[in-house]
Amino acid sequence: MAIRGTVKIDIETCKGCELCVEACPQDSLEMSKEINNKGYHYAVLVQDNCTGCVNCALVCPDAVITVYRETKKKTKEPVAVITNVKQDIRVTVDSSVPNGGIDV
Ligand code: SF4
Ligand code: SF4
Repeated sequence: MAIRGTVKIDIETCKGCELCVEACPQDSLEMSKEINNKGYHYAVLVQDNCTGCVNCALVCPDAVITVYRETKKKTKEPVAVITNVKQDIRVTVDSSVPNGGIDV
C-alpha cells in the first residue's frame, strides 16, 4: 500500500519560485491563480496523492513547506519541518585548524 502524506505550505511566505512544483514526483503541487500579500502566486497541493517524500520541503529556498506522513496508526505526523535557514543555521569557524575545521 502506498505511503500517504500531505504538505502544509505557508502561502503568505511563499515567493512563487515553483521549485517545489518541479521537484514533486507525484505532480501533487501547482501554483495558485491567486496571489498572496507579497504579490506572488503561491504553491498549493492540488492532488491527494502526496507520498510525503519530502522533496518539496528540501528544495524550498524559503523553508515554508512542512511535510506530514501517515503513520501506522493513521495519524499524520510531521516528517520534515525545516525552519528558515537564515535564522537557525549557525556556522562556527575554528581558526586553530586547517580550513577552519571544514572538510573540503
Ligand atoms: S512531499 Fe513529495 S509527493 Fe508530497 S507534495 Fe512534496 S514532493 Fe510532492
Ligand atoms: S519552493 Fe517554496 S517558495 Fe518556491 S514556490 Fe514552492 S513553497 Fe513557494
